Amino acid sequence: MKRRNGQETDITQLKIDWDKLSKEADGLLQELFPICRSITGNGTRKTLEKLREIAQFDIKEIPSNTVCYDWAVPEEWNIVDAFIKDSKGNKIVDFSESNLHIVNYSVPIDKIIPFCELEEHLHYLPELPNSIPYRTSYYHRDWGFCITYEQYQQLDKSGEYHVVIDSTHTEGVLTYGETRIEGETDREYLISTYCCHPSLANDNLSGQILWALLIRELKSIKTRHSYRFVIVPESIGAIAYLCHNEESMKRIDGGFVLTTVAGPGGFGYKNTYLGNHLIDRVVQRTFDELNVSYIAYPFDIRGSDEKHYSAPYFRIPVGTISKDKYFEYDYYHTSLDNLDFVKSKNLIETLRLYLLAIEKLEINVIYENLNPYCGLMLRKRNLYPKIGGQIVQKVADTKTSHLEREYKISDNDSICGSELDMIGWLMFCSDGHTSVLDISEKTKHPMRSLFETARKLEAHGLLKELNYSGSEAI
Ligand code: ZN
Repeated sequence: MKRRNGQETDITQLKIDWDKLSKEADGLLQELFPICRSITGNGTRKTLEKLREIAQFDIKEIPSNTVCYDWAVPEEWNIVDAFIKDSKGNKIVDFSESNLHIVNYSVPIDKIIPFCELEEHLHYLPELPNSIPYRTSYYHRDWGFCITYEQYQQLDKSGEYHVVIDSTHTEGVLTYGETRIEGETDREYLISTYCCHPSLANDNLSGQILWALLIRELKSIKTRHSYRFVIVPESIGAIAYLCHNEESMKRIDGGFVLTTVAGPGGFGYKNTYLGNHLIDRVVQRTFDELNVSYIAYPFDIRGSDEKHYSAPYFRIPVGTISKDKYFEYDYYHTSLDNLDFVKSKNLIETLRLYLLAIEKLEINVIYENLNPYCGLMLRKRNLYPKIGGQIVQKVADTKTSHLEREYKISDNDSICGSELDMIGWLMFCSDGHTSVLDISEKTKHPMRSLFETARKLEAHGLLKELNYSGSEAI
């Protein structure tokens, strides 16, 4: 690729102060956690406005009742207050203490009812007795309260209760955010997350913050490919976005759904529906190069918005790197998925993995060997050690293989052993079809090192970068 402007910074030169970024992410977690988000309404708008203070993106709206494929945008929901009072007037459940106490999208109510009627609208978890479950009722008009099992046990089963939910359903809008980073190739990747969960930290406030930080970092450099960033309410938002951007979304080459990125547990990767797409390969290579273990999850239609993005008409291969993946951790969709559970340090570690995976998309170049007839005379180009034949003799080291014993080059040579090996492989493999990722997978040399060596060879006139990058051919 020709750089549009020789001085521009590419992703391999990105300098990040990780500690500073971690503190910033911590501040955002604290500030955004209390907001009562939903698939529409003021909480989601407020969250997007706040995220826009750290990254540039557009906030857009789709009116209620707009038909999007098999769905319609629901009426906008907002809530002011909600509580349950016992017969003595004591507030025993209070929305202001946790927005999870309300079934999200509850219709309004203000009524005194007996316990037997209230019980039909209560949700609790005996297996996690100190947690409030997260429940929604978007497409079925109903009301409900979510309480801890401990609260449930203390209820007077013969008492009466004053139940108040001060909420509204009105003709309004579905709010979402998007931005596009224009690259130089015709490749475009989607980076999507969802913004509809109320006070739940790992699922998915962590993903929203990572999404915004990733925009800011990628906008600070020149990218080879284009990146489309989308933040939507889960499901209906992704469906509405696809419906309104059908032609451009059909051209997306792959992507990620960012979710559950800051838990204390292990890393995970949910594969794309293809399982061996370029997206899967760059993620696997990222983990392998860092020697970080992770759980590989096969694609499953149960999950997040990948099932919409990968639907037959669009077939966008979408993967997800997670830290404590949704469904898998005990506190998932409960009030225990809170700011004690997630850590900004974890969020930043996952951000780093995403940046390294995206770096691999960016540097997955295909080169053509301009001297394809035989091995090159590297010495005349100063690309070979001064003294040839250097190898640790087998008699001195019987445990390692020939490959590992080769290239033990003396300190006063300008070229190191691994670089010589990379030069050899790059020249051998660069047939116009084999990419830097292919060579990295084959040789286990880090992709960035291979790319930097390839650029050196390009400067010597030995390799030529082809226009098409990112071949999946091996
Ligand atoms: Zn969720």
